[in-house]
Amino acid sequence: MNLQTNIFPESLRKILSEAKRIAIVSHEHPDGDAVSSATAIYNYFSAKTENCRIVMPNDFPEFLKNIPGSDRIINHNDSKTEVERTILEADVIFCTDFNDEKRVGKLSETLIKAQGVKIMLDHHPSPSGFAAYFYSDIEACSASEVVFEFLQKYDANFLNKEIAECIFTGILTDTICFSVNSSRSRTFEISAELLKLGIDKDRIYGDVFNKFSENRIRLSGYLFNRKMIILKDLKAAYVILSKEDQTAYDFQSGDSEGFVNIPLSISGVDVSIFIQEKTDFFKLSLRSRNGVDVNLMARQYFEGGGHKYAAGGRIYAQDIGEAENKLIEILKKYLK
Ligand code: 5GP
Ligand code: MN
Repeated sequence: MNLQTNIFPESLRKILSEAKRIAIVSHEHPDGDAVSSATAIYNYFSAKTENCRIVMPNDFPEFLKNIPGSDRIINHNDSKTEVERTILEADVIFCTDFNDEKRVGKLSETLIKAQGVKIMLDHHPSPSGFAAYFYSDIEACSASEVVFEFLQKYDANFLNKEIAECIFTGILTDTICFSVNSSRSRTFEISAELLKLGIDKDRIYGDVFNKFSENRIRLSGYLFNRKMIILKDLKAAYVILSKEDQTAYDFQSGDSEGFVNIPLSISGVDVSIFIQEKTDFFKLSLRSRNGVDVNLMARQYFEGGGHKYAAGGRIYAQDIGEAENKLIEILKKYLK
């Protein structure tokens, strides 16, 4: 079965119009596209359905809190029972911006157990097959763009200013302001439709790219000055953010947003890896260009995945030294 299709499944019309309880779920450590795609769906269906809720595995960064509807999101870390009940009692469960049940972390068991009709709206390659319906386009810049197409096919009059703001935020964040993954004209056509609704582009840009803390800027200076390692032979660069440095700079979720992209602006660097020391493992963010496939690397070596040029994963190690050795060994093997 081809799981990757952007043909609107007509059998969904009745299911959606009759749904009384809708749950919208996105991935762990929600980023701009996760929050935006989920809130866009929420802003549409909350006006049509008795009960519509957004649930996430954990909280999302402060700079995404102006997205319309994001104040309604509840997360499993803070409200375990309520989140699990919402998923288990839903007739319809939208899953946005992820392609594999493992991406919802501690919620994956609940998601698999739930009996509601699962609809995946996404843009990652190779879905795992957990949902009943797939609406997926790997050419789309973001899951938010996929949500635009999906809602438009369901209801030609779906768009309002709130939904436009959500979708535009998802497009801006996943393309880093149209700098990556945004070469097809459809992305710009959709963006033009959104701007026609009167959304304030400059305010949205400012919310997501100019609201960082002073600590983040100081941490960035420190890391790129003192911690960035460049492996010239492999055209790779990496930075490891230790627990010690997280404490020293009062690190908050979202503070390292975008750091992984910075080494890719160095001539001769085709792969960049940002590593954050967590309690039980090291979390990796990978970015690449010029044909290097980090999705494949993350799948093969880091228990992760993502897109060709943007992926994530993890390394299990006792300490930073061991994690670094493992990383270098894998880079040598994969990038040779
Ligand atoms: P980021 O580096 O921004 O966290 O993630 C980059 C891309 O990789 C996103 O599309 C994200 O969904 C995906 N990704 C991040 N971490 C993981 C992971 O652990 N597993 C999988 N399958 N995808 C991931
Ligand atoms: Mn995305």
